[in-house]
Amino acid sequence: MQTQLGLYFDYAATTPLAPEVAEAMLPWQTGIAGNGSAVQTPYGFRAQKAIEQSKQMIADAIGANTDEIFFTSGATEANNWALFGLADHLQKTGKTHLVSSPTEHAAILQPLKQLSQRGFDVSYSKLLPCGMADGCLVQAQLTDKTGLISLQLVNNETGVINPLEEVRDFIQGSDILLHCDATQALGKLPINVKQLGLHLASFSAHKAYGPQGIGALYIRKDIQPLIKPLLYGGAQQTGLRSGTFPVGLIVGFAKACHLVQQQISDDLAKAEQLHQLLRDRLDQANITYKINGHDYGSDSKNWRVPHILNIALPDIQNDWLLEILDGVSFSTGSACSQQGDKASHVLTAMHAPAENSIRLSFGRYSDAAQINLLADKLINALLMIEEMIDQEVA
Ligand code: PMP
Repeated sequence: MQTQLGLYFDYAATTPLAPEVAEAMLPWQTGIAGNGSAVQTPYGFRAQKAIEQSKQMIADAIGANTDEIFFTSGATEANNWALFGLADHLQKTGKTHLVSSPTEHAAILQPLKQLSQRGFDVSYSKLLPCGMADGCLVQAQLTDKTGLISLQLVNNETGVINPLEEVRDFIQGSDILLHCDATQALGKLPINVKQLGLHLASFSAHKAYGPQGIGALYIRKDIQPLIKPLLYGGAQQTGLRSGTFPVGLIVGFAKACHLVQQQISDDLAKAEQLHQLLRDRLDQANITYKINGHDYGSDSKNWRVPHILNIALPDIQNDWLLEILDGVSFSTGSACSQQGDKASHVLTAMHAPAENSIRLSFGRYSDAAQINLLADKLINALLMIEEMIDQEVA
């Protein structure tokens, strides 16, 4: 994607809004949306119908039932709710040990830090060199007090996929709950929360061509009595998440999910081609680089999404590239961290060179011409830096 602000290679930070989504939202954003709880009015009744229909579309996209979808403001809220919402239950049952991974998003790591200050014992899985929290490594952390495992499906910085099925299998028959931050998986991988054996899962519309400010927490039906609300108020969403329904955002989220379902194979195939093109261009220019993430073995494509390419460039400080690669939006860490100058905790946990790495992410509206333009700019920038370093040394 290219606008007057330049080339966009930061899809993992936020995706462009799909035009079809904008169109579906428009009547709700510009007219009288109605209050979905005020069903005694025609406007409210119409809003409620749209919300119910939207829930169905979202549930279909992730393999859930409609009464298991709870709208939130995004994945940060969904993650916080999953963890804090279960805290009382876990404490009451003496299951105060939690397991996660050091590569999780801050919206998991920060709540976990808070919980550890409130008496929870938190263990972080060791990692394979690619950053994956592999089933055996996660299993090794379990104790008889483990009450909850929280693992992401796709990492936002490297695109590495965690093997949730392995976790599902080893917790089967136990009372350990499994929460998944599936934020970066929606739109990049087919998702079925039931097949993955998840009790809870977090989603965000703006990572899948939907609007910013809306997401959902999937809560399996039998888990709902165990979770406490994060927000109290008008008792919308069966009292579990109060607040007036943002109808336009919900309709947009649903449309985005519907498009994802229709287009996932095409989107995935295209992303794979673009991924390969970018790597071919770097290879042809003899650029020395290493992929931070899963990049080995014949099944390597099963363990990473192609939309995110995290590249380590030896001897190149990533902030030089931020300056030189003018007109290209990309990231040198997690865009969602306000501590922009801090080295990526994900790459640090993988023992990857965080300060020499850049994340390029692309998606539905990217094409070969944009990739070639990016490759030209990147290769030129790297050659220029190399020349400057050579001159300095000489
Ligand atoms: N989890 C992951 C893996 C993410 O990538 C993000 C956004 N970068 C979040 C959670 C937070 O999502 P939101 O922006 O919807 O709060």
